[in-house]
Amino acid sequence: MRSLELLRAVYAVRKAESLNNEQVQQLQDQRLKKLLKHTVANSRFYRRFYREHGINEGDLDEVRVEDLPIIDKNIMMENYDDFVTDPAIKQAGLEAFINESPTPGSKYKKKYSVVHTSGSSGTIGLFVYGPREWEMSKALSLRATGIKLPFGRRKKIAFIAATDGHFASVTSFYNLPRLLFKLLPLSISSPLDEIRDKIDQFQPDVITGYASGLNLLAKEQLAGRIQIDPSEAFCTGDPLTVVFRQRIKKAFGVDPINMYGSSETMTLAGECGQCRGFHLFNDWCSVQVVGDDLLPAKAGRVIITNLYNYTQPLIRYQMNDEIVLSDKACPCGWPFPVIESMAGRQEDFLWFEQEGGEKDFIHPIVLAEFFVPGLEKFQFRQTSPNHLVMRAVVNGDEREVEAAIRGKMEEILSGKSLQSCVRFDVELVDEIGNDVKTGKFRLVVPLGVGEAVGL
Ligand SMILES: [Zn+2]
Repeated sequence: MRSLELLRAVYAVRKAESLNNEQVQQLQDQRLKKLLKHTVANSRFYRRFYREHGINEGDLDEVRVEDLPIIDKNIMMENYDDFVTDPAIKQAGLEAFINESPTPGSKYKKKYSVVHTSGSSGTIGLFVYGPREWEMSKALSLRATGIKLPFGRRKKIAFIAATDGHFASVTSFYNLPRLLFKLLPLSISSPLDEIRDKIDQFQPDVITGYASGLNLLAKEQLAGRIQIDPSEAFCTGDPLTVVFRQRIKKAFGVDPINMYGSSETMTLAGECGQCRGFHLFNDWCSVQVVGDDLLPAKAGRVIITNLYNYTQPLIRYQMNDEIVLSDKACPCGWPFPVIESMAGRQEDFLWFEQEGGEKDFIHPIVLAEFFVPGLEKFQFRQTSPNHLVMRAVVNGDEREVEAAIRGKMEEILSGKSLQSCVRFDVELVDEIGNDVKTGKFRLVVPLGVGEAVGL
């Protein structure tokens, strides 16, 4: 059943690929109007918020996306229960669900797909997708990868990332139809020898996951510690550097394709093999780039409107990402605009020394996806080679939240066999300041960096 729904979504997504720019624009406008009407009729927050900004239900046919007020993750989370369009969805219920059912891919109220992240902002956000919306997100990720749906034999996909929670990429991965794909999840938080054994035995057709995870596999292959022969490679989650790309190509003889996604949009853009930029999938997501003055710009912050999520509508939602748009059209023929470059996703790896002297890391995305109920905002600081402190803003019972944080961190550390050599402390604070040099929030502050940036 799910495979059928996916095929339908894939068909809907493919149709737009042969349109021209104006046709995509028209499609976007129609989809925006439909979404706006649904949202104002069903979301208490938006109805109130737009009225406060002088926009009433009768204006929705005339309104341009630029006229709508901007929201962000804080506004969304402060108004969460009024924000969503199904009154059965509650923030407290979602938090309990994430906490109690850590199986990625399991559904809230047997219906809704849930992803959560603090992203690089340190503030936890919850995102819910209805069943059809979720199929659409998968169809868009298939567009980004260019992966062909297999016929005959199931494709074997190995996925290396944070795999034990409701994060965007892993939740998508677990929801791939089993009829078409055979899946091997590899936790980036598990010991390396375990990763090596599993992938060698599995022999994937496709490798995907964090760029740093694929880089790790490439290193292992080049050193002769694993022997696999994938024919496709896709990256997401963290930056695919030039060095990573070359290494993956050298190790496996395939050029990795990079994707750009988020919990807010799932797949937002995919790398083009011809221009090497990212095509922004603006048929299902309206995107404006604005400067510090919030006026349209070629380079700056991204304001998105997810055009397919009717359950938790994100309309004129400001992301932390910054992108530069290209003026040039791409020769590949896709009508979607091209992103020249993007920034704002780089967080540092934390390296620790194991008892035998060998070093192992904690991936920054594992830290970005840290979740326990009552934790609102946090930052990780490494204060000595084997000492880690979490600064945490919490609500509710402080002791209970702190105990949950400690429990969760112990899981992460023991996954890497670092529990006995790394000391972990929690510091409860009222607010966490930004990096005084860049003015940006730093989620991870590695050893020796804190003082340098005034934190
Ligand atoms: Zn292209």
